[in-house]
Amino acid sequence: MTTDELFEIDDPRRGRVAAFGGMAFHEIRARTMLNRMAGAPAGGMAWTLNPYRGCAHGCTYCFARTGHQRFGFGITEDFSNQIVVKVNAADILRAELRRGRARGDWVMVGTSTDCYQRAEARYRLMPEILTALADHGVNFTTTTKSALLKRDTELFARAAECADVLVMTSLGSLDDRVRRAFAPAASPPRARLDTIRALRAAGVPAGVLIAPIIPHVGDHPAALDALVDACVDAGALVVFPDVMRLKAVLRPWFLHRVAADLPPRLARRFAAGYGRREAMPEDYVRRVTAHVDARARQHGLPTWPEYIAARTPAKPEPARQLRLL
Ligand code: SF4
Repeated sequence: MTTDELFEIDDPRRGRVAAFGGMAFHEIRARTMLNRMAGAPAGGMAWTLNPYRGCAHGCTYCFARTGHQRFGFGITEDFSNQIVVKVNAADILRAELRRGRARGDWVMVGTSTDCYQRAEARYRLMPEILTALADHGVNFTTTTKSALLKRDTELFARAAECADVLVMTSLGSLDDRVRRAFAPAASPPRARLDTIRALRAAGVPAGVLIAPIIPHVGDHPAALDALVDACVDAGALVVFPDVMRLKAVLRPWFLHRVAADLPPRLARRFAAGYGRREAMPEDYVRRVTAHVDARARQHGLPTWPEYIAARTPAKPEPARQLRLL
């Protein structure tokens, strides 16, 4: 069963619609918040939790865009302008946790869309969600491109005293021109790194998802080195590199945007690279991710599997070992 099937939302337009700032917020009451991932091992990252659907950050490459169709919306402008808000998220989560759901597992908060996007400044769903997770000692991780997360630093610190917590920001380039072209409403790179710095100062385990690494734009070895160095300087405990992928249904719109926003030479390279495929060739991906891993290693950082393994207590039953990848 997928995340969306579990929500059982027939049509978010039936909910109250609040409009502000050129956006519509569809306030719905979810029936469940914790969604088990099919095949996930016990003790691993087995649950997802998404208080919002659609994302005002509007990253042109975003994989979650296609999921917006399940709510009756389009995958281009609708995705960043029509936001579904689960206004009862914390109440439902608490009820599920009281029933023992997710006990002993990890919960991934905001996997589908960013839970610190613009709507969160108004609806403030995350403080109650973090409090509920901390109260029940639930292990969790979250990833954001927003500096708004800094607002909840104390809550993350409290949660980290009660359970395993890992907060990630995702950042594929230090160059703000890249953000403006591909992730127009995300926080600037330095602001995201400052968030990591604040979390680490408060004792919260935090790292950087170096993603997406955009071919021809953010993949120069010197740029990747500078990015890893900046992550380390901010206090990141781990970095995880990932190269941009592009869903087929999104490609025509993405390439149209690229052609409008980037120099023609670059747009042509994108069309050649992604025109017929979802991902760059394997050897390219291996080379780029290995470069990031090597730079991180020079700083003494563990790889992602090493970081996770170091925080996984040995268990007598192999089937219950934490497996995150
Ligand atoms: S911040 Fe994440 S969820 Fe939001 S648009 Fe960008 S990639 Fe998608």
